[in-house]
Amino acid sequence: MITPAGAECALYYEDFARGARMQQCRAAKHPRSAEWRQEDCGSCPVPRILTANGSPALELRLIIRPGVLGIGRHVEIDAWCSAHGPIAGDPCIGCKACNAEADELLKRALE
Ligand code: SF4
Ligand SMILES: [Zn+2]
Repeated sequence: MITPAGAECALYYEDFARGARMQQCRAAKHPRSAEWRQEDCGSCPVPRILTANGSPALELRLIIRPGVLGIGRHVEIDAWCSAHGPIAGDPCIGCKACNAEADELLKRALE
């Protein structure tokens, strides 16, 4: 669905049918994350990450940092691979071990 910030996000859900006013972020949240608000979509990197990295092993967890009196509020992401653990670096690029395995498979297929 399209988020209030205008990006396509597979983890956003809303329902305004028949008088309903429901908006949800269905991403996993870090235990220390602040409660989600619709304006958090504006600083959230998830739509960009999911566009760049379609790996089924990719898992994301949001940490919403509330800032001070709402100033500096923003979303950070914990990313990890279900097969290899935490992803260091840019989650758009993905898991280095998965990427190496895919490169190896491609190399063998081309031999
Ligand atoms: S906060 Fe991020 S993950 Fe959650 S619905 Fe908005 S864009 Fe998607
Ligand atoms: Zn991996």
